[in-house]
Amino acid sequence: PQDFEQDHSANSQLGYIGSGWGSVSLLKKLDTSNYNVIVVSPRNFFLFTPLLPSCPTGTIEHRSIMEPLRYIIRHKQSAVKYYEAEATKIDHARRVLKLADLSDVKGEVSETEVPYDYLVVGVGAENATFGIPGVKEHACFLKEITDAQKIRTKVMDCIETAMFKDQTEEEKERLLHMVVVGGGPTGVEFAAELQDFFEEDLKKWIPDIANKFHVTLVEALPNVSVVLPMFSKTLIEYTESTFKDEKISVRTKTMVKKVTDKNIECEVTKPDGTKEKQILPYGALVWATGNAVRPVVRDLMAQIPQQASSRRGLAVNEYLVVDGTDGVWALGDCSATKYAPTAQVASQQGAFLARLLNSMAQTQELESELKKLEDLQLQAAETGDRETLDKEIQKKEKSLRRVKQLSPFEYSHQGSLAYIGMDRAVADITWFNGNFATGGGGLTYLFWRSAYISMCFSTRNRILVIMDWIKVKIFGRDVSRE
Ligand code: FAD
Ligand code: NAD
Repeated sequence: PQDFEQDHSANSQLGYIGSGWGSVSLLKKLDTSNYNVIVVSPRNFFLFTPLLPSCPTGTIEHRSIMEPLRYIIRHKQSAVKYYEAEATKIDHARRVLKLADLSDVKGEVSETEVPYDYLVVGVGAENATFGIPGVKEHACFLKEITDAQKIRTKVMDCIETAMFKDQTEEEKERLLHMVVVGGGPTGVEFAAELQDFFEEDLKKWIPDIANKFHVTLVEALPNVSVVLPMFSKTLIEYTESTFKDEKISVRTKTMVKKVTDKNIECEVTKPDGTKEKQILPYGALVWATGNAVRPVVRDLMAQIPQQASSRRGLAVNEYLVVDGTDGVWALGDCSATKYAPTAQVASQQGAFLARLLNSMAQTQELESELKKLEDLQLQAAETGDRETLDKEIQKKEKSLRRVKQLSPFEYSHQGSLAYIGMDRAVADITWFNGNFATGGGGLTYLFWRSAYISMCFSTRNRILVIMDWIKVKIFGRDVSRE
């Protein structure tokens, strides 16, 4: 069991950074009356990332998958302070967070410090670019709502520019070539959503692009990797054959080496093992090659000698305590554990940390009550009546033992699901004891949609998402630019 023997004052300042899956799951379950809770994040809302790939195409409106942090905070037992700011530095030695207000509107103060007794780091990860030249300048990413909006504008701009009077055929072809780099679940889901958009709406309203609009998915490895690497070969083949039916080109064994404003330079490994350089002209490029460590986390790691050998994020123990620290925890994509960086893992870690922090506070309360009873017992020894006190002490000791017995964090995988287009999804569902793929049709439609709906954060989000799906079924997707 975790050692709770330190000073856990009920008024301890609990700082925590981030408003993603990990931090918000912690906030929901934390008994905030035990700590002075301070939340810091540049994003004043929670984002339901599993439906983010549906946003650029307008299948889902972005507000439907956002939950304001203020709603969550106002429902807590006692006041929680929220600062819309970025934690620019965690000063480990001084136990201080440095904050910067990076919003467009600046007050007289836009940088400050917050001291903390305990800290939970849940800042997630940034987009990996592996330093490949041109990616940051020319590619769109898909992590935040603003990314989805940028992709939307870029795709529609490419289409309307391709339709510009006297545009050459070659230029039309380039502009209408949509490339997604990274055959992980983000890339797969977005490519599928984009192709659906084309087939169901764009083609209808802008028939001139019908023979030229084209989606390509580029992956360095020999296969796309839907959902989790341990996904069965059958499901990967099913995804690849569905993409073929949808006319999405999948270019595996193709490593992007450089990006310019109009071309993607790749290195293709041919069947005989030789490598060939290829150039792909493109209009819009969506880069989805996974996670990289955020600068604030890298900086914290550099301050702690025990983190020297960690590469993927903050190394933590089985109670999510950051190695080499006391009273600092990390969860979600910014931590390096044996689990995949997924929403499921982050939210279970958040719930675990809430239990741990609640137990810490309870322990402290029980210990002080026990101390008082023991003092009374000493006095009673002189007067002779100890029986009731003994019983009371035994009861408290038993509760204390129970509270202290918190087992280490264990992840429980509930299955994964990925949308692959044409109303088809793939899933590994543990209660079916293995992987299974769902074909097209009404049943699939109900299955994967109901799973996503049940995962939604609030009833409000659920209703908004369902309404978006119904709207798209009735009216189709909007093809305006913004
Ligand atoms: P995040 O949810 O990324 O939250 C990080 C938070 O920290 C944000 O609020 C951010 O604003 C804040 N922050 C960042 N920097 C700072 C700073 N310097 N100071 C203060 N705050 C900061 N996983 C699944 O299990 N199932 C899915 O279907 C799924 N779909 C996905 C689809 C997409 C498009 C993407 C991008 C990811 C998807 N994931 C999915 C992965 C999942 O979203 C992540 O694993 C999860 O968000 C990690 O949670 P987190 O709390 O660690 O980080
Ligand atoms: P990922 O790390 O899963 O996949 C990135 C892919 O990009 C890899 O297959 C990699 O080989 C490829 N790649 C890297 N560099 C490349 C290059 N230069 N050229 C071509 N290909 C290159 O990333 P992701 O898809 O963003 O997923 C991140 C995390 O979020 C994962 O843990 C994933 O499970 C989770 N996620 C889950 C879901 C879901 O469950 N439906 C959806 C999205 C994301």
